Amino acid sequence: MSKLFKRTKILATIGPSVFGADKIEEIIMAGVNGCRLNCSHGTSEERDEQIKWIRDAAKKKGRSVAILQDLQGPKIRLGAIVDNHLDLSNGDEVILEAAEGYEHDGGLTLPVQYNLAEKVKVGEPLYMFDGKIKSEIVEIVSDTAIKVKILNDGFVMSKKGLNLPETDFGGDIITPKDMEDLEYGAHQDLDYVALSFVQSATDIEKLKQILLSLGSNAKVIAKIETKKAISSDENLEAIVEAADGIMVARGDMAVEAGAEVVPIVQRKLIALCRAHAKLCIVATQMMGSMVENPEPTRAEVSDVATAVIQGADAVMLSDETANGKYPVEAVKEMKKVILYAQNHSRVATMKVQPEGERAIYDAISATVARLAEEIEADVIICQTASGTTAKTMAAQRPNIPIISVTPDTRVANQLALIYANSAFTRKYSENFGAELAKELKDSGYLQTKPGKKDLLAVIVSGDKNKYGTDTIKIRHI
Ligand code: PGA
Ligand code: MN
Repeated sequence: MSKLFKRTKILATIGPSVFGADKIEEIIMAGVNGCRLNCSHGTSEERDEQIKWIRDAAKKKGRSVAILQDLQGPKIRLGAIVDNHLDLSNGDEVILEAAEGYEHDGGLTLPVQYNLAEKVKVGEPLYMFDGKIKSEIVEIVSDTAIKVKILNDGFVMSKKGLNLPETDFGGDIITPKDMEDLEYGAHQDLDYVALSFVQSATDIEKLKQILLSLGSNAKVIAKIETKKAISSDENLEAIVEAADGIMVARGDMAVEAGAEVVPIVQRKLIALCRAHAKLCIVATQMMGSMVENPEPTRAEVSDVATAVIQGADAVMLSDETANGKYPVEAVKEMKKVILYAQNHSRVATMKVQPEGERAIYDAISATVARLAEEIEADVIICQTASGTTAKTMAAQRPNIPIISVTPDTRVANQLALIYANSAFTRKYSENFGAELAKELKDSGYLQTKPGKKDLLAVIVSGDKNKYGTDTIKIRHI
């Protein structure tokens, strides 16, 4: 019966390919557990609609679905380029101009949506169009313009991104556009906010302060994609600790640090997140060829399976669902790979750290995971208020489904992206875990083993006002 539940979750980016209530319902039914709203594209009116469609579909189907708002951060983009194409040659000197109202006239002065003159230093590298054009900064021309020297032949198009792997944004990565998006989001039903181009834990602490002051209870995801973020293990761990989760943002990380660096950082981050019981999302190009084709490549299948075997909480679809020709197929293919991988290669167990604040949570969770496997339980039930019990339980990566029950809808939606968790909102009572299990058994959602009448459940609970998680029960349901 555990075969029915996928333990690694799917986060899908919402865009034109799935624009409509029916489309959103279709991808959720195909296996999507969370939806990413990318602030780099679209209008707030469109986002209002998307949020409503997601919530309506989730409610109709009785599922928890997470909504993640992805802030652009200092993802600097070119403005509009005349005819949407400009050839550049090795040795060209190009001015990047941030002055308001500046429009491209076909020449080598290009509009940029950010004032680089305030941040960059001469000698630093600047890449355009996902690294396709390499250049070096040669002069700060004015308060709003810089000059770069192009180092290869190629071309750029309108709105293409710039990467500045050596530039220190000095703890100032939340842009005015991000502030607008945050203010919009604070009044919306959002479960996570992700911040792009995080450099240090300070960036996350600042974002948390802003969310607090706006009255938002969204959890924070640090997108790991800058050279600075991965510059040392200490910095990386500090970011993981400060955030509620991370995204291995492989697209920009490859441009900033080199593609060969990415798989190693992915491995390290998944392990770090488990050790700290934080959410880990592996993102970008997982099924990239499915933007155009109805089937993934062998390499893509292998990539998704690898993330599953390494123990990622969630794998992400970007253009595949946002702009691709086969959004529903991409979700179905991903789900198929996840289920096969999880059922044929289990995630390595983790050493429990016997000290620190979470020592008791961890010890109980490790015990529950072992106990549930030894007695061949059908399900682990977590009664959870803040979600901590469910997350530390998930950090053990048990190969038995976790059903979490909480009185808080926000917590249930957040848990939708956590490993092996299916989360439900129910009114609190001392036995609401067992009651939910009975309800799910009666509805057929949870099934007994062949020839068995009862479900065997391990229930873990606690009173957060007293000792946190402190009780393990075994129940036949
Ligand atoms: P993006 O982030 O899609 O917002 O750029 C993910 C990545 O860089 O991989
Ligand atoms: Mn990115």
